[in-house]
This record gives sequence, structure tokens and C-alpha cells, in this order.
Amino acid sequence: MFIQGDLALLVILGSAIIGGLIGMLRGHNIVVAMAISALLAWLVFPIVGWILLLLVPGKKRCPKCRERIERKAVVCRFCGYSYAPAPAPTPA
Ligand SMILES: [Zn+2]
Repeated sequence: MFIQGDLALLVILGSAIIGGLIGMLRGHNIVVAMAISALLAWLVFPIVGWILLLLVPGKKRCPKCRERIERKAVVCRFCGYSYAPAPAPTPA
């Protein structure tokens, strides 16, 4: 790593905070997101952790009740909103 001493610590800390915020917005656990960002900032480069957080699918927001639910969910566990295509309407 080419950054030395205090500057390295600052970069890692800053990366952890930004990564944590990205993770939070993406529906990840903020602590996990911060840990990943800090680790990757230390190992590779600050941006890598952020890109990773942006690529990994997080949770989505239910359009009906605005609660965060799993990205793969087809039914909202809070309000029962269905993401599955509605059954074909029976012709009257
Ligand atoms: Zn819902």
C-alpha cells in the first residue's frame, strides 16, 4: 500500500463511512457494509468496496408500504403486496 500512516487510517475510515452509507441506502447492514469497505480500502483501494456494495443486490422497497424487503421476494411480508404478475383476468 502506497499510503502511509495517518493518511492511510483516514482513507480507510473515510471509505468505511462512505461504504456504510452506500450499504445503508442499498438495504445492507450498515456495520457489514462499513467493515467490507474498510477492509477493501486497506487491502486494495477505497472505491473497490463501494463498487462491490453497489453491485451486490440489497433489499428493495415495497411500493405499497415502503418497507424494505428481500430483493427476490414476490410478496411483501408487511402488507402482502404481490410482485408476481397478476393472474390473467377471467373474461366476463
Ligand atoms: Zn409492503
